[in-house]
Amino acid sequence: MSDLELAGVRKTFHTKGRPEVEAVRGFDLTVGGGELVGLLGPSGCGKSTTLRMIAGLEEVTGGDIRVGGRSLVGLPPQRRNVGVAFENYALYPPLTVAENLAFGLAARGIGRAERKARVADVAERIGITSILRQRPAGLSSGQKQRVALARAVVRAPDVLLLDEPLSHLDAAQRDVTRRELRRLQRELGYTTILVTHDQEEALSLADRVVVMNDGVVCQVGTPDEIYDDPASLFVARFVGEPAMNLLPGVADGEGGVRLSDAITVPAGVAAASGREVLLGVRPEDLAIAETGEVTAVAVVYEDLREYGLVTAELDGVGEKLVVQTEPGLPVRPGDRLPLVVGRSRLFDGETGERLR
Ligand code: ATP
Repeated sequence: MSDLELAGVRKTFHTKGRPEVEAVRGFDLTVGGGELVGLLGPSGCGKSTTLRMIAGLEEVTGGDIRVGGRSLVGLPPQRRNVGVAFENYALYPPLTVAENLAFGLAARGIGRAERKARVADVAERIGITSILRQRPAGLSSGQKQRVALARAVVRAPDVLLLDEPLSHLDAAQRDVTRRELRRLQRELGYTTILVTHDQEEALSLADRVVVMNDGVVCQVGTPDEIYDDPASLFVARFVGEPAMNLLPGVADGEGGVRLSDAITVPAGVAAASGREVLLGVRPEDLAIAETGEVTAVAVVYEDLREYGLVTAELDGVGEKLVVQTEPGLPVRPGDRLPLVVGRSRLFDGETGERLR
């Protein structure tokens, strides 16, 4: 169990004839021994590049990467003791699953008996014992993904890097594998970074989540902190399904937001009067009541069994919003729904900065 530290890590790609790309622009993070950190962000934000720099598959342009206090910068991948499971598996086709797992262990001076024991143990834990003698070509994508994971784990790495490890599994498999992965990671105590663009995966698996955008870290926090207390408009928009409602308005200087001439709702944050703001309210923080602070006119009601979702238009404002309700409500298009606004967050309308 080693801790992993990234200090001011940067990566700039220079491709001849093309503008340079600043893929990672100063990444600071300390991952504690045995911790699982999820790297979450939209496509192209620099997640994989960060992972590849830790693995040694890309050199850093600047900054330092340390494991257990020792710098990895300049070391080739094979001297880093970092286990990597990539989305595209990178398995060796001519080798059986068992040989794929054992590959690399011999080069590390691990004897035959120990190699066999390790492969058998990891295969058992990951549930691939029955396919150890098969070759990758005959495996389903879910099986290949498990083999890639087993191969990363079998080396008993200081740090385990997982790049979209569940992306090729169907929904049912993904659920099971996600739970297994978490159990395995806890059991073996690996310091782990998981890259994903799937927020549900990051929020359900990780001890802490790093939200990235455009090469920078936007927020680091526990899943609850990221969901409940987004540090910026970007995080508020990116995390949460269905997304947070963001209602444009003007601060009244007294802790309220004017959504229209006639409608002011309390925001609990006294932004300067006249400042353009966005009031963020999650769908579950809006409640249909006898009398409300605002009235919305229902457009669509979806019954999702565990809960219902009303898409509605704010009366007198025109903004659309989504309200989470109990399931099976008899809501019809055109129904007028008085809404009580519960917990809200406030963001600057121009910069997206969180106002507190
Ligand atoms: P995805 O989820 O789509 O994999 P990502 O967040 O992992 O995205 P990266 O793959 O790290 O993003 O890419 C970050 C930026 O760096 C992108 O603009 C990408 O085009 C660029 N990039 C990545 N690898 C290279 C490379 N070898 N040469 C030039 N540009 C690159």
